[in-house]
Amino acid sequence: MSTTNLDGLNASQREAVLYLDGPCLVLAGAGSGKTSVITQKIAYLINTCGYDAKGVVALTFTNKAAREMAERIKTLIDRKLMKGLIISTFHSLGVRFLREEASHAGLKPQFSILDANDTYGIVQEMLSTTDKGRIRMVQQKISLWKNDLVTPDMAERVAQTPDEVDAALVYRSYDATLKAYQSVDFDDLVRLPAQLMMQNAEVRERWQKRIKYLLVDEYQDTNVCQYEWVKQLTGFRNMFTAVGDDDQAIYAWRGATIENLAKLTKDYKNLKLIKLEQNYRSVETVLNAANQVISKNPNLFGKKLWSNLGRGEPIQVISMDNEEAEAESVGMRISASRFERNARWKDYAVLYRGNHQARIIEQTFRQLRIPYTISGGQSFFDKAEVRDVLSYLRLIANEEDDPAFIRAVTTPRRGVGQATLTALGEHAAEKKCSLFEAVFDEELDTKIASRQLEPLRVFAKFIQTIQWRASKGKADPVQAVQPASADVLLDDILKYMNYEHYLYETQEERAAENRWLNVLELVDWLKRKAQEDGLDLMQLVQHIALITMLERSEEEEEPDAVKLTTIHASKGLEYPYVHMVGVEEGLLPHMGKDDEYGDANKDAEALDVRIQEERRLMYVGITRAQFHLTLTWCKKRRRAREDLIREPSRFISEMGLESGRQLLQDPYQGMSPKERLVKLKEMLQKKAGAAQG
Ligand code: ATP
Ligand code: MG
Repeated sequence: MSTTNLDGLNASQREAVLYLDGPCLVLAGAGSGKTSVITQKIAYLINTCGYDAKGVVALTFTNKAAREMAERIKTLIDRKLMKGLIISTFHSLGVRFLREEASHAGLKPQFSILDANDTYGIVQEMLSTTDKGRIRMVQQKISLWKNDLVTPDMAERVAQTPDEVDAALVYRSYDATLKAYQSVDFDDLVRLPAQLMMQNAEVRERWQKRIKYLLVDEYQDTNVCQYEWVKQLTGFRNMFTAVGDDDQAIYAWRGATIENLAKLTKDYKNLKLIKLEQNYRSVETVLNAANQVISKNPNLFGKKLWSNLGRGEPIQVISMDNEEAEAESVGMRISASRFERNARWKDYAVLYRGNHQARIIEQTFRQLRIPYTISGGQSFFDKAEVRDVLSYLRLIANEEDDPAFIRAVTTPRRGVGQATLTALGEHAAEKKCSLFEAVFDEELDTKIASRQLEPLRVFAKFIQTIQWRASKGKADPVQAVQPASADVLLDDILKYMNYEHYLYETQEERAAENRWLNVLELVDWLKRKAQEDGLDLMQLVQHIALITMLERSEEEEEPDAVKLTTIHASKGLEYPYVHMVGVEEGLLPHMGKDDEYGDANKDAEALDVRIQEERRLMYVGITRAQFHLTLTWCKKRRRAREDLIREPSRFISEMGLESGRQLLQDPYQGMSPKERLVKLKEMLQKKAGAAQG
């Protein structure tokens, strides 16, 4: 056992790390070292207090945050002592939990995890509509109920508006359908473990004994379900540290509730509350602006925040003619600044409110040859070709996964038409079995002509063969067959699919080529993953399902590229130079559509609540910047082929910037894109010359 060096921490941080007499809540503003407390405390528990890593669990908000924390911890404790330490998101822990406790939850260990696309399809079918808004509304409503631990029965009782009544009806059959598919959705990954621990004493005791210390980051964004699960997991011991910042709560729309912070102080009478006041991330100009903005919100806990990193350069606020000019200007500024400061691309981040804003920036950056990575957008795993291949794997792991069955059996087309599938679906419903199982039922011969039945059965038999080779071979000691490795099986599946051929038949050449490259990338990645982590095909499939649900894995070394990200996805991270784009009324604050926010637009109080959440989002955005922040807004923005006149965001004036000096005009205003590019090249050449000379 060695001691942990806590010299780098300030007095309050040290107090939080050393406190082990009961539950502890660290409540503090952005960049004050809350996440650092968690990391150091894990090291302290294991290194100094002799905790077995197996009993320590840290919960982070994203997979990326979990990986970063694990990396940090590797530098603080001996690798050997780390064995069994769990650093993960709530959802990853949920998968692990459900896999172990599957039988208690009425699931097989190989249950499928459905993503938003799959559940969209299920809800669509139940509503028999193509009205996207309505489908999303119901999806969202069910999700919120689940996060609030509201059962279908309860939902029926509380539903008031016609929309809610609609959603409650769907909720019940949705739940039943998922059970029949032996699947869970994203919300179930937390809901089912929480419920199971509340209801099942055996399971509860097992996990409470196992977890000796729990740490939770970004606590302000937990929902009712997560609160309850934390309570169950920490049980009689009550040994946990939660850190959070009520001013950074930005997931209310997903059911998170800041009340969880206040609730902690009520539910745990002996809760130790620690505040941190020094910000170690941002220069004063940035921090002051952030403090000014957030001071316009009601303050629950009375926090202060100061920094001694120096005054820093003034924040720049620049108005643009339109979004093209904005994207170019940001690109040019980043290129120029990189030369001037001798910085790297990855020191820069571009933050925006909505994913749709990324497109024009991507296009412009490509033109300007600025390397970038994008997060929080459409994931690799959402691409049609990737989902096609994955549907085979899902079906192999779980025959009951009907959505996967339908996708796989129809892609590529193999002569199974809609009428055949409908007949199959009816038969399966009658027999109360999965589509896959129904294929082999003899009675089906009377319902579907043999010419149509043939391709169905050939397909299902292929799936069975792979299943057998992947795992069943293990159970056959007489023949002494080895289960085939994931590598070999993946190649065989791809060969059987004849997918490349299919792509070139159905797509334009360029598109087909791109898609095929994505498939190859997926398969390569899967093989590598299987090898590195020693997973067989079945285990591999669940592993991907999880990443599919969360975000694209970013395991590779971080490339030297500008980071394009939504503000939501930037939470907890920091960048030396930040550009926030589209800081306009209607975008930030985002006014939403009525159907997303219920009656908020009509009700002044509800509107205020919404603006407050947008203000917190602005606070999160500003506080990502370490040394410099640039804000841009467009006077005109194109929406559905119409130019809308825009106003700068109210949050800009709330920043209390000292003088008009910081409010700049775009120097390239009025120039055509071509002229602007020429200007940029000149500028870069000048800078490059200066840098060399
Ligand atoms: P956020 O609210 O954005 O999640 P946070 O409170 O979790 O921020 P950290 O990310 O832990 O803050 O820390 C912000 C930065 O300050 C990091 O670069 C971290 O390494 C640094 N830092 C934290 N504590 C100290 C300290 N005591 N001395 C010097 N630097 C520190
Ligand atoms: Mg943090």
